[in-house]
Order: sequence, then C-alpha cells, then structure tokens
Amino acid sequence: MPQLPLETKLIACRSDNYAVLAHDKEANLTFLVDVPEADAVRKALQETGWTLTHILITHHHHDHVEGLAAIKAETGAKVIGPADSKDKIPQIDEPVSDGDAFKLGDQDVYILGTPGHTLDHVCYWLPKAQLAFTGDTLFVMGCGRVFEGTLKDMWFAVDKLAKLPPETTFFCGHEYTEANGNFCLTIEPENELLKQRMEEIRELRAKGLPTVPSTILDELTTNVFLRANDPDLKESLGMAGAEDWEVFAEIRTRKDNA
Ligand code: ZN
Ligand code: FE
Repeated sequence: MPQLPLETKLIACRSDNYAVLAHDKEANLTFLVDVPEADAVRKALQETGWTLTHILITHHHHDHVEGLAAIKAETGAKVIGPADSKDKIPQIDEPVSDGDAFKLGDQDVYILGTPGHTLDHVCYWLPKAQLAFTGDTLFVMGCGRVFEGTLKDMWFAVDKLAKLPPETTFFCGHEYTEANGNFCLTIEPENELLKQRMEEIRELRAKGLPTVPSTILDELTTNVFLRANDPDLKESLGMAGAEDWEVFAEIRTRKDNA
C-alpha cells in the first residue's frame, strides 16, 4: 500500500515564529513541533479539527515553549523533547538525544543532536515522509545564531542537516528568509540560483506569505552557511584551503555583525 504523506499546517506565532502541525490520518495521530504561544496553536487545532496527540520540542528557548504548559494541559498530548533540557522544560514526558529514534504511527522519527544555537537543540527527521523539523538550527537561507555552543559545533550541526536526502522538506522556527537571503547575496552576489530565489522570496513576502517550508536541495544551492565547504566560495572569501568550519565561522560572524 502506498504511504500516505503527512498533512502539515504551518502556524504563524508571535512576531516571526512558526510552529507546525502534522497529521497522520491513517494512524490518527497529530503532532505539533514547538509551542511559541498557545492561542495560535488552539486556533489551528480548531480550524483543522485534528486532535493533538504529541508535541515535539526542539530547544529550550522561550519563544519555542511558551505555550507548552497550556497546550499540554488542554490536550493531554505526550511531550517529546531534548534530554539535556528536562530540568528547564518540566513538561517533557519522553527525553530524547542524538541517535535516538521512536515511532509515530507508521513513521520512524530520528533525533539529530544539533548543538550550536543552544546546547540542547535537537532536530527531528521522518525519512518516510521526507520531512525534517529544524527549529533554530537551519533556517531558509540561514542558520541560527550561536548562543551556547561553538561556531565549530554549529557547522557540524548545519552540515548534518545538509546531508539529509536533498528531497527532504524542512520546517524551521522563524520567518527570517528575506534578511537571510539578502545576506547570502553579499557573500555570493553572482549565484544565479540565489538571485532567482530571492526574487520569488520578495514576491511572497510582499504578499505577506510564508517562505517556509523549504527543501534541503534548495538550501544546498542558495544557503551560504551550508555552502561553506564549496571550494569556489572559500576562494572568493580569500580562504582557499581553510577548513569548512572556519569558513562557516567567518560567514556566521559576518552575519552577526551585518
Ligand atoms: Zn532559539
Ligand atoms: Fe527561536
């Protein structure tokens, strides 16, 4: 029997956050990734008529868990989240860390430890559905700021996601795409795919539409943070022969100071 894809619903929250609902009709499961606020999630559940069964948390930052206590209390959903934050996030029922896997209905969910933005950060990968949830590690044409880990940690986190199958669709935690893409253009002004993509992104944003989700393939060609291992890019930064992570660190530092 062919695998039915998961149905997803992007939920705009706060000023620029996203949560996502994913619904598996066959298994009668619905999971939510991150809970930036309760109200927007309640509304999305009402609109879809889906019954929430699981909540997946990417990291401990306030803008990803603020609505967690309320939504868990209202729905009784089981909460899966980073083991490293079980003290900070007391609602976690099932702590997970890098290399763990669990089943959601028919789907295997793999936990990818991605320290850098925070030390506890995990991403979730569902190979069968070709879906990943990357929180504040990988953004569309960007990556998260490095608050708790090192720049080197963050390179390995981002590169781990870059190595997922290119056809993987990923949802991230923020709508930062336009600013990210403008920054990418300062690093690779001649990247034709990047220029084309930015035209599409500007049109979407002018209409107030989201740019999330994206695919790993689109990031491999346009996201300069993932492209830090590209020999031509290294050379254009005067860093020919430098380690991938050093080039990433240079790019991330330029973005921080932009
Ligand atoms: Zn964060
Ligand atoms: Fe965030």
